[in-house]
Amino acid sequence: QKFVYDFTEGNRDLKGLLGGKGANLAEMTNLGLPVPPGFTITTEACKVYLDSGEEPAALRDEVSSHLDALEKTMGKQLGQADNPLLVSVRSGAKFSMPGMMDTVLNIGLSDASVVGLAKQAGEERFAWDSYRRLIQMFGKTVLGVDGELFEEALEDAKAAKKVTVDTDLDAADLKKLVKQFKKIVSREAGRDFPQDPREQMDLAIHAVFDSWNTDRAKLYRRQERIPGDLGTAVNVCSMVFGNLGPDSGTGVAFTRDPASGHQGVYGDYLQNAQGEDVVAGIRNTVALADLESIDKKSYDQLMQIMETLETHYKDLCDIEFTIERGQLWMLQTRVGKRTAGAAFRIATQLVDQGLIDEAEALQRVNGAQLAQLMFPRFDDQAKTELLGRGIAASPGAAVGKAVFDSYTAVKWSRSGEKVILIRRETNPDDLDGMIAAEGILTSRGGKTSHAAVVARGMGKTCVCGAEELEVDTKRRRLTVNGTVIEEGDVVSIDGSTGKVYLGEVPVVPSPVVEYFEGRMHAGADDANELVAAVHRIMAYADRVRRLRVRANADNAEDALRARRFGAQGIGLCRTEHMFLGERREMVEKLILADTDDEREHALHALLPLQKKDFIELFEAMDGLPVTVRLLDPPLHEFLPDITELSVRVALAEARKDHNENDLRLLQAVHKLHEQNPMLGLRGVRLGLVIPGLFAMQVRAIAEAAAERKNAKGDPRPEIMIPLVGTVQELEIVREEADRVIAEVQAATGTDLRLTIGTMIELPRAALTAGQIAEAAEFFSFGTNDLTQTVWGFSRDDVEASFFTAYLEKGIFGVSPFETIDRDGVGALVRSAVEAGRATRPGLKLGVCGEHGGDPESVHFFHEVGLDYVSCSPFRIPVARLEAGRAAS
Ligand code: PEP
Ligand code: MG
Repeated sequence: QKFVYDFTEGNRDLKGLLGGKGANLAEMTNLGLPVPPGFTITTEACKVYLDSGEEPAALRDEVSSHLDALEKTMGKQLGQADNPLLVSVRSGAKFSMPGMMDTVLNIGLSDASVVGLAKQAGEERFAWDSYRRLIQMFGKTVLGVDGELFEEALEDAKAAKKVTVDTDLDAADLKKLVKQFKKIVSREAGRDFPQDPREQMDLAIHAVFDSWNTDRAKLYRRQERIPGDLGTAVNVCSMVFGNLGPDSGTGVAFTRDPASGHQGVYGDYLQNAQGEDVVAGIRNTVALADLESIDKKSYDQLMQIMETLETHYKDLCDIEFTIERGQLWMLQTRVGKRTAGAAFRIATQLVDQGLIDEAEALQRVNGAQLAQLMFPRFDDQAKTELLGRGIAASPGAAVGKAVFDSYTAVKWSRSGEKVILIRRETNPDDLDGMIAAEGILTSRGGKTSHAAVVARGMGKTCVCGAEELEVDTKRRRLTVNGTVIEEGDVVSIDGSTGKVYLGEVPVVPSPVVEYFEGRMHAGADDANELVAAVHRIMAYADRVRRLRVRANADNAEDALRARRFGAQGIGLCRTEHMFLGERREMVEKLILADTDDEREHALHALLPLQKKDFIELFEAMDGLPVTVRLLDPPLHEFLPDITELSVRVALAEARKDHNENDLRLLQAVHKLHEQNPMLGLRGVRLGLVIPGLFAMQVRAIAEAAAERKNAKGDPRPEIMIPLVGTVQELEIVREEADRVIAEVQAATGTDLRLTIGTMIELPRAALTAGQIAEAAEFFSFGTNDLTQTVWGFSRDDVEASFFTAYLEKGIFGVSPFETIDRDGVGALVRSAVEAGRATRPGLKLGVCGEHGGDPESVHFFHEVGLDYVSCSPFRIPVARLEAGRAAS
């Protein structure tokens, strides 16, 4: 096994092994772009180290031989006193985790080689500043010294000299500072700062490995659903310096605008600065376009490289570069993160440019991005009080109370408050607060600052670099043009325009939703450009997808919306939703009925109401299938709460106020009370125990269908029996249903062609699917109950009780109620599909649990060969898109 790859040996397909950064450095090297030479230590080495606590035995020698080669190439030796080679040691995982893991620059500097560097560069101040940065970074990240101590010492040095910026400290000041920094290290770390350059390098490599498991990295991975066992690669790269004077600098560039997708020159440049200064948003940068006037030669070269990269990667790339005394160096590139809107636009732009085809375009977007585009925006007609304007870093409309630190953000959001996290700039320690906040607002930093990059990754609204805003985190307030915003005051931020408003601004629906609703058509302005892109991508998806998409809807209004959103029928109409409101009393009567007469009376009263509901529903879905599920929930859900009712009865008794109905109710509630209602009298069991209930529902469906037929409609109802565990249950219910249908057909003179099927939502049903298929014309997987019963997790309780602990411990990366558990629940689905089809080749198969609208689960349902997924109306476009992506 090989643990170290020279940049000339790798390529971009090796991201799993070399990390994203390493793989792309190799790719650029092989494209002949100016990359400082170096090598990458694999994620495999990291995994061995993390598992065993020791680096693999072969690693040391491999690193030595690669270092030798690097030294030869560079004509210098690591840390050599008179002509030192310096290297950076950078983390780089398979998936980008901005700012989450460690990096150490300037490795190789020591008391001896700092002098050599000064001579080599002809710059004493620069050399000592580099050494001071190394001790600081090394002390903090490798030796675990509190970074504040270095910051304080630096501040003191500036104060003593009565200057405000680092650059006003001269070589002598920095020499003193180095001495102090070394003292801090010795005192705090219990060891001296290592003078041996190889020891520096080895320790830095281990520190990068270890940084895979810091709390903030773990939190980020959970948030982004990045597996915890991938490990990071380590890139050892010869140093180039952007801080060697005004003809040096460092910057970040995008080949297109990551917010809109438009082509152009986007990025930031910082003159006379070193690597991390730009990303950290510490000093304000100039626009990349200004580089043209600063250094035309490098600018032109960069533009050309950007074009090469875009054509090569066939996608938006982001780039980190450094200019050392007029020589351009590429430090990193990757396929860049982008906003959801830009993803759709870029995908269609690249199709138009002939760089990718439609199938590839579908892979460049996803359902989560589409869902994000369906969020509402601020109402531009609303009266607003503009506070200021920053950079539109991550789109969306966020309203909340101002908070100025992450701790408060988390605390307030836990108690149900919506908050906007306001900081001068964010750093990785703010991650908790950023997750808790509705949106993030900073006064410093550009589109590539930490706040912007992380917010975009999370799909969270962010405005950054709003420079007029004076953020005072100590006093927890924000001042802008004389207005003071205190902690708790409401602000609204618009991540699409960068505008910041005082108070709550009303929000309006997204243009994409307006488009799906049929209220907006593709045109020329910005919103319309987005709509046009979404329209095209949806058309590709619809063309290639095999899965049909239906809606979970129980009334005509939802059904009509679902249809506009592209639903091809209803996969689940929960009839219990038709028994709420004023009808609850009628159900109460049914439950309380003592005699057949009373019961029939109650059912008789319900029949016309049910029928009317169905007529409306079938009309709304005319020509498309409508799966109506017979009553499912435990009956106590229709009765008053046992405690409340007991109290009411007791109080009435005390007043000698005898209420016959309440007494009967209480009796019934006691009788129906169950320890585990979800495993009790519900679903098909109700139909078997309460005479006439299912027959009434079937009659309502059949009569509604007959009426629609007679009105020249095209009703296509499917009757679905819930919670079946054995084919016998289904057979009994079916017999009755078939009889009722035959009666209605005879009475109305219609041929209804009603189909009858069942839900598969109990493990036994899945395991005996072959038998059940004999009595069912279709299956619809109820993956909510199936997940509940396979795991033994109460679907109503666990998310609030122990799931957090499970997620934290990594038992699963995401709730199995959200994304289908492929190995457990999914295995049952797969085998039930096979067994069902073996019995009845034409068996229609769908899913109507929440998973039907979850992107990853949709891919699974495609793979196992279902005919359709059914989800809530708003998720239909997402399901259509993901079904298309799964098929292409
Ligand atoms: C299910 O169990 O997955 C289902 C769709 O039914 P309900 O959520 O109504 O129990
Ligand atoms: Mg269910």
